[in-house]
Amino acid sequence: MQDDFSQDMVGRPEEACGVFGVRADGLSVAYLTFDGLYALQHRGQEAAGMAVSDGVSVTVVKNMGLVSNVFDDRTLRSLPGYMAIGHTRYSTTGASNWRNAQPAFRSVGEAGFALGHNGNLTNTAELAAEIGMLPGMVSSDSDLIAEMISLRYPKPFNLAQQNLIHVAPTAHGPLIDSLMDVLPKLEGAFSLVVMDTHQLVGVRDPHGFRPLCLGRLGDGYVLASETPALDVIQAEFVREIEPGEMVLIDGTGVRSFRPFPADQVDPKLCVFEFVYFARPDSKLLGKEVHGTRRSMGMHLAKSAPVEADMVMGVPDSGVPAAEGYAKASGIPYGQGLVKNRYIGRTFIAPDQASRVNAVRRKLNVLADNVSGKRLVVVDDSIVRGTTTRGMVRMLRDAGALEIHMRVSSPPYKWPCFYGIDTPSRPELLAAYRTVEEIREYLEVDSLAYLSIEDLREAVGIEDGLCDACLTGNYPVPVQVSLTVESAS
Ligand code: SF4
Repeated sequence: MQDDFSQDMVGRPEEACGVFGVRADGLSVAYLTFDGLYALQHRGQEAAGMAVSDGVSVTVVKNMGLVSNVFDDRTLRSLPGYMAIGHTRYSTTGASNWRNAQPAFRSVGEAGFALGHNGNLTNTAELAAEIGMLPGMVSSDSDLIAEMISLRYPKPFNLAQQNLIHVAPTAHGPLIDSLMDVLPKLEGAFSLVVMDTHQLVGVRDPHGFRPLCLGRLGDGYVLASETPALDVIQAEFVREIEPGEMVLIDGTGVRSFRPFPADQVDPKLCVFEFVYFARPDSKLLGKEVHGTRRSMGMHLAKSAPVEADMVMGVPDSGVPAAEGYAKASGIPYGQGLVKNRYIGRTFIAPDQASRVNAVRRKLNVLADNVSGKRLVVVDDSIVRGTTTRGMVRMLRDAGALEIHMRVSSPPYKWPCFYGIDTPSRPELLAAYRTVEEIREYLEVDSLAYLSIEDLREAVGIEDGLCDACLTGNYPVPVQVSLTVESAS
């Protein structure tokens, strides 16, 4: 996707973090976590961090920047241990600063615990009020979860407080006890990895908005947002953590808990994990993402055919759907744009004009390939539309005769509240415009979107996906009415 969900320098949509966890006796868990985070870098480029346990203490290292900026060989060598969690961050709540980098850490119990969160809570204000935090004291919803867990840790020297929090100690230990108490209070999207000195825990919210999978590494276990993080360390995929499930990994193996009421469990994996967010080599619900994207393009070719000389994708995420469109239509596939892979996230574009310039920095046209041709240009979605329009102008300047835009998802009309950074509703190009009005704005010869039915068919899942940003059907209630009214 080359459009602008957020104020990223080319207006890319921003995934709200990747999480990783590993327990593996005798292996260099810091190095394994580094490799796992590297494979999850696409899920967050603002900050990275890890927490490592050697059985006695938990050490946290985190900083702003890419995984490779935060960790070098010297840092990793200084982190001996047998268990670790890691995190790559993009902020959806909370400012982009060191304090909000994760893992979050709390010094309670024997040696404290660390937590990494992918997602976004929808009841942050209520939860903060419940534990007596004033507005403005909550730096991020992830920090709030850590605070809530720490408050429920048994405090043996403070019997009065222990009575107040009503936590009866169990054989599972304080971390599990606290999680069992806190998790049912959370609403929204949360895939968590949590760790103290001896226990590694993975949690998926009752809707399972964000992915989380379990892998096996020798006698040890791995948790990761996406399967490529298992592949890179040669861990064997075991299964996905189920929506509403908590798994505990300790010296005895893996145990499963159900902290949420059964009637709350209603799987709604984010459909945009298939459309854009997940890596193409990820497997979600047993399907390789790349194949579903090709299928989206094939459906689009059938529903929105056009006479053209070349099909091209907007790199990288539009490419598999473009391949699918070319295959189904018989129109040759070609490359029309080259992406600068090394540009990274260097600054936040302060205004519209600099965003458009940022597109030119990120993408360049293969002029000989597009000049004099009628092009089908496939992208996975259009959010604000400014960067798509900039890209269209670049293709025209290079001599493209016709540009037929094909989008491998339905119009993006509603903001996401479940961990993806999107603009407010009035800023979404499709929120209040017809397809023809959008076509005129983008200055393309024709424009067509994939239908919601074809999207579900391409993914191969009829029910059990969140598509709120496309349909307005929010699985967890949100206050969207304010943004609707403000558009008038
Ligand atoms: S609203 Fe859209 S982006 Fe957000 S979780 Fe649902 S499908 Fe994904």
